[in-house]
Amino acid sequence: MFQSPATEPLDLQAFKSTISLPYRLTPGKAMGSFIAELSGQRIVGSRCRTCNRVEVPAQDFCQCGSDDHELVIVPSKGKLTGFTETPHFTLGTVRLEGADCDLMHHLCGEIEWVIGQSVEVVWSDKVESTMRDMLGFKACIDTELQVIQALTDPKQFLDSMPTSLTLDYHHAQGPYYGRLFDEMQSAGRIMGIRCSHCQSVLLPPREMCDICYEKTGTWVDVADTGVLQAFSIIHLKFVGQFREPPYVYAEVMLDGASTKIIHVLEVSNIERAHEFLKPGMRVQAVWRKELKGSLGDIEYFKLLEIPSF
Ligand SMILES: [Zn+2]
Ligand SMILES: [Zn+2]
Repeated sequence: MFQSPATEPLDLQAFKSTISLPYRLTPGKAMGSFIAELSGQRIVGSRCRTCNRVEVPAQDFCQCGSDDHELVIVPSKGKLTGFTETPHFTLGTVRLEGADCDLMHHLCGEIEWVIGQSVEVVWSDKVESTMRDMLGFKACIDTELQVIQALTDPKQFLDSMPTSLTLDYHHAQGPYYGRLFDEMQSAGRIMGIRCSHCQSVLLPPREMCDICYEKTGTWVDVADTGVLQAFSIIHLKFVGQFREPPYVYAEVMLDGASTKIIHVLEVSNIERAHEFLKPGMRVQAVWRKELKGSLGDIEYFKLLEIPSF
């Protein structure tokens, strides 16, 4: 029968982490021209030769499907067509003079915004060759209509630019991994959980036995010594690695556990590891001095026997 864990975790563990996705953005020729020309304080649109529509920022394809267009300079003034206020900033959509679509950007200045307000671009002092070369729009008084001009001397368009997405998150361990990591940090011991049906000791501990699909129940101590079950010598670099290759990736069955954990095996002679490492060799965990409550509290595993060549 299912028994709940004997104790609740000392402190439910969570860790903070970040996923970072760096990449190069290829904006395309028209958008690349728009971004490149911002550094010269020029707003570049595209005028379709088929339907006459003016898009800002410039687009390689018109909504009518045509790719036949010329690049044009659009006046840096227009009318506010919509806005949204947040506690930190105000975003507005602006229909620049002569354009057939709205451009979204920050609205600068603490004023009572109204739709229809005349606005003009606020340029940044710094040139970054990004959308930030425009700080946004500020209110201005109505002036005479300016005209769109063909862009006669385009700068080299920006073909790509480095950018990155980052996702910050907290990962909650839950009561089973939580207790495992609590015990590692506070007592330097490793605990598995015994299945009440097939008696397997699962490590890491989990609520359901993945051998017989029954609920697990009893916490048990597992040794920090065990048997090397399988290994791989890693020579390739890849994203997310904690160590510099070459190193040995090891699957270890700890004494008292019925399932394997994955860790690193440190050997003195990595060049010859493929000759002397054999499944079945005895290994032991080497703990870090400062325990933080994760599998990383075990720095690596070491061989308990002298390898024979
Ligand atoms: Zn068109
Ligand atoms: Zn079971």
